[in-house]
Amino acid sequence: MRHFDYKDGVMHAEDVSLARIAQEVGTPVYVYSAATLTRHFNVFAGAFEGRDVLVAYSVKANSNLAVLSLLGKLGAGADVVSGGELARALTAGIPASKIVFSGVGKKPAEMRAALKAGIRMFNVESEPELEALNAVAVDMGMRAPISFRVNPDVTAGGHEKISTGKAENKFGVAWSAAEAAYARAAELPGIEIVGVDVHIGSQIDELAPFKAAIEKVSGLIERLRAAGHSIKMFDIGGGLGIPYGSNAPAPPLPSEYGAMVKEATAHLDVQMVFEPGRMIAGNAGVLLSTVTYVKRGENRDFLIVDAAMNDLIRPALYDAYHEIEPIIAPKPTTPQKLYDVVGPVCESGDTFTKQREFPQMVSGDVIVMHSAGAYGAVQAGQYNTRPLVPEVLVSGDRYAVVRDRPLVEEILKTESVPSWL
Ligand SMILES: *Cc1c(COP(=O)(O)O)cnc(C)c1O
Repeated sequence: MRHFDYKDGVMHAEDVSLARIAQEVGTPVYVYSAATLTRHFNVFAGAFEGRDVLVAYSVKANSNLAVLSLLGKLGAGADVVSGGELARALTAGIPASKIVFSGVGKKPAEMRAALKAGIRMFNVESEPELEALNAVAVDMGMRAPISFRVNPDVTAGGHEKISTGKAENKFGVAWSAAEAAYARAAELPGIEIVGVDVHIGSQIDELAPFKAAIEKVSGLIERLRAAGHSIKMFDIGGGLGIPYGSNAPAPPLPSEYGAMVKEATAHLDVQMVFEPGRMIAGNAGVLLSTVTYVKRGENRDFLIVDAAMNDLIRPALYDAYHEIEPIIAPKPTTPQKLYDVVGPVCESGDTFTKQREFPQMVSGDVIVMHSAGAYGAVQAGQYNTRPLVPEVLVSGDRYAVVRDRPLVEEILKTESVPSWL
């Protein structure tokens, strides 16, 4: 069931009219559905019923405190990639014992904060990072629990910029260097080996690359155990794709993914860790925007809307497709027109879609961009001094603004002109 749908001709998030949110909060604004987040988390976690798993939600997909808090209450852990995200996860009440720390460039201060908090494990991505983590842990009189993120050299991911598991990507320890890295880790007094980690990409729409990676890493786990290392955890990362729009090809269901993973790992006695992000949050959020002008171009018409690439960068960055609909259901008599939907930012890349058919629109109409719950608000910026886009969480017939829209004065206050100028 979709939690964003027309009711009496007006698009709702659960039982709240999006026209009401647009009116009361203003646009552009992100709107998330608590029921959808809950359903996605439960469906994903449920796919591993009967197995010892930790579902560590990938905070970078949507890191709003309200979203983290909701998922934490459902039992989610967190996969964080910075000290900032660690602070968010802890502030949202996610226990440190359910937090894993990924990322290629962890700095000593971030390692220190994570060790102090007592996180589940560090996913170490290189030998220099291992040495740095060891030094921090020794200094603190602690041992850091680690997995190496290994790079299995498989092709996966819906776009070049979100494929991470090929040998040429910056991520993970090279496949050929993995065993030597474990041998080195075993010598270090500040390091405790606990597992192996792999994350091959994002928006992956087939099972085969996951299966290939799991089979390769399963072999590695057996070799590492034979070499005397204690491998208790197998972190398979995130990356399961979602449908972007009703005509898009449907990626495997979480149940199918779960069945494949269970079968491929049945012979390994390990605790499984997953780091889903997009699968949980992507279709749990929309971006609302108002048409500012309908502009006649030389050979095409533009819908100039009040959201822009600084609010939702996915189309500009990944050529991403977002389904777009008017929040007021069009009448059957409304003619269809071709439009380019663009924002006001001074970049040609500030284009959400080109030459797509929509019911004819006029200035003041509000549109909804679907599938914007992941990698949307988190990548927003203030380019063109456009205040950071606010976020709203809906649950049933209630809604709350869970991130405010800053005032321009507040933005300007963070800057200063030196007295000597
Ligand atoms: C981004 C990321 C994820 C989440 O990927 P999704 O495609 O959103 O599921 C998981 N793990 C790591 C290490 C990541 O960088």
